[in-house]
Amino acid sequence: MNVIRTIEDWRGLRPQMGTLGFVPTMGALHDGHLSLIRAAARDNESAALSIFVNPLQFGPHEDFNRYPRTEHDDLQLAEKAGARYAFCPDPAEMTEGISTVVRVGRVSERFEGESRPGHFDGVATIVARLLGIAQADNAYFGLKDLQQCAVIRTMVKDLAIPVELRFEETVRESTGLAMSSRNRYLSIEERLQAAELYRILKSATKRMWTTGEVGPVIDQAKVDLMEMDFEVEYLACIDPLTFEEVGDVNANSRLIVAAKFHGVRLIDNVGVKVP
Ligand code: AMP
Repeated sequence: MNVIRTIEDWRGLRPQMGTLGFVPTMGALHDGHLSLIRAAARDNESAALSIFVNPLQFGPHEDFNRYPRTEHDDLQLAEKAGARYAFCPDPAEMTEGISTVVRVGRVSERFEGESRPGHFDGVATIVARLLGIAQADNAYFGLKDLQQCAVIRTMVKDLAIPVELRFEETVRESTGLAMSSRNRYLSIEERLQAAELYRILKSATKRMWTTGEVGPVIDQAKVDLMEMDFEVEYLACIDPLTFEEVGDVNANSRLIVAAKFHGVRLIDNVGVKVP
């Protein structure tokens, strides 16, 4: 594994990487990240990840300071999953003196954008910078962060960034809980209970698909979630490209949720279409 800490060093090594699959992460790797790295290794001559806890995407009262930082373990896991290169920049080189903000209109405005003001500007600005540095052929993102996928897809298209985007399915614990670095904030017992989020989403999508009803199903699912101790921020059925809410479901519609469980903010989404 080559650990690269400066843009200049990356530029020097890029020619030897061949076709490159790039996976931006904030570290604290779990199987969700590793599935992206495996996909990058499968499709390209080299796979690389970046590990950078992006301060621009955290709100002032969010968990930037306590976000888990486990670089040593991350590098070992990434290497086992097939990464040959890791870009682990100094935060100063990534953010200091930067006066450009990338703001993606419309698709970034609701849901996560509303709950976390400035979040997507921070994501888009740093992902654009990372894509500019990496010069990858393919870049991999997880559908767990569905709105982030829509924001990045729009940004890459609008700015004509020369990279192919690959979106990979959400990896879950055996209980159904979507893997997330923030699950570390929950006890084992709480993680088991938090898996109810997925169960309730699944049963709601099944009802939506079979009855065609959206509003009443969402209302019921909100009640079910509150009864299980979740504080729902939003629960909506949307088109995954535009993030507009849909009244009539189709095979692409997805149910998205953000909810706090015992103080930990969880997001998830599932397709409405029942296989
Ligand atoms: P993060 O480190 O949280 O910024 O995530 C880095 C990448 O991993 C993003 O593209 C995420 O969408 C993706 N990711 C995070 N959790 C999962 C998961 N459970 N399954 C698949 N991809 C994930």
